[in-house]
Amino acid sequence: MTLSEATPYAPLVPIVQIENVRMKGRRNSVTCRIGRVPVGGGYPVVVQSMTNTDTADAAATAAQVIDLARAGSEIVRVTVNTREAAAAVAEMVKRARADGLGTPVVGDFHYNGHTLLTEFPDCARALDKYRINPGNVGVGEKHDENFRRMIEVAIEHGKPVRIGVNWGSLDRALLTRLMDESALRSAELAERFGQPHDRIVLSAKVSDVRDLVSIYRALGAACDYPLHLGLTEAGLGAKGIVATTAALAILLYEGIGDTIRTSLTPAPGGDRADEVRVSQQILQSLGIRHFTPQVTSCPGCGRTTSTYFQELAADVTAHIQRRIAAWRERHPGVAELRVAVMGCVVNGPGESKHADIGISLPGSGEEPRAPVYVDGKLAVTLKGDTIARDFARLLDEYVEKRYAAKD
Ligand code: SF4
Repeated sequence: MTLSEATPYAPLVPIVQIENVRMKGRRNSVTCRIGRVPVGGGYPVVVQSMTNTDTADAAATAAQVIDLARAGSEIVRVTVNTREAAAAVAEMVKRARADGLGTPVVGDFHYNGHTLLTEFPDCARALDKYRINPGNVGVGEKHDENFRRMIEVAIEHGKPVRIGVNWGSLDRALLTRLMDESALRSAELAERFGQPHDRIVLSAKVSDVRDLVSIYRALGAACDYPLHLGLTEAGLGAKGIVATTAALAILLYEGIGDTIRTSLTPAPGGDRADEVRVSQQILQSLGIRHFTPQVTSCPGCGRTTSTYFQELAADVTAHIQRRIAAWRERHPGVAELRVAVMGCVVNGPGESKHADIGISLPGSGEEPRAPVYVDGKLAVTLKGDTIARDFARLLDEYVEKRYAAKD
């Protein structure tokens, strides 16, 4: 089972939902609007992603922007690294917009951003935010001059910027101080050049979990700019997912972080949208946002030697994935639904009772019956060959009844 099959996720959280929610316990920050998406200021933590197509190929990049947005990415970043890429941005954004998603598109600039943004005003206009890396816009006077030019373009077009510093491995204490100083000094410079305080987002990404936590704690305490979190170069597969989760969970739990990205190295032929699913799952696991109903299932052990309960857990997950788009339309709040699929009597009834609706399957040698608990109480006991189908029906009925239907 792939990550996308195992993780039902809810694409396209309506922006109106973000607009209407203010979260408690978040670090105090101003609100920066990226297109129509508010970031910071207690608004829900926003999921971002980045394309890996050649931006000069407007059609391919627009298609990937749409894929990522459909997967639930609320902001999508594209690299703008060459004149060809800058020349293609306006057309790419137009194509992505034609899909009706309206997902903000951010341009990632390094080394030559001042030149590209000046030479390609259509590109500057089409993008919803510019990501500037102050570490590579030149040195000495050139640095300030190039940086200033990018800020002037941002002011001219009324665009926010993300000042995103990245650094390799330095001594931890020195790294924290230098990264934070670099980000804060650049933000101060941007404001001195005229960029409004509430059109700046900061990030200071590194690839080490402990460094990232130290840097963001210090940065979060030193300013009220919204912060973009991410462990840079997180890696491939489980390593990348675990390292990112470890780092982001600590910070998010402390209320730090207004927007996040999971920087996974995709497997050859892998799905780029996996990074969106991981970010959603991190936020949902922490109870910070709810994107889709959660299925709790036990790992199985020697007490349940058949694969039946694994198949049922997969079936229930697939059922939710098929239904979720329609449920979200019709049943606000359904993303908070908790479903349990448990393998035997040891933890089955207990875990099922804690869920909104749960089923406890018979383990090896147990009587072939599967009690279903609804809102903590035994509702019915299923038997026979149709347990999976019957449970799916009960789930549908529960959603209909519990979450008032929108007319
Ligand atoms: S609920 Fe039963 S089958 Fe599942 S892990 Fe626990 S003891 Fe094993």
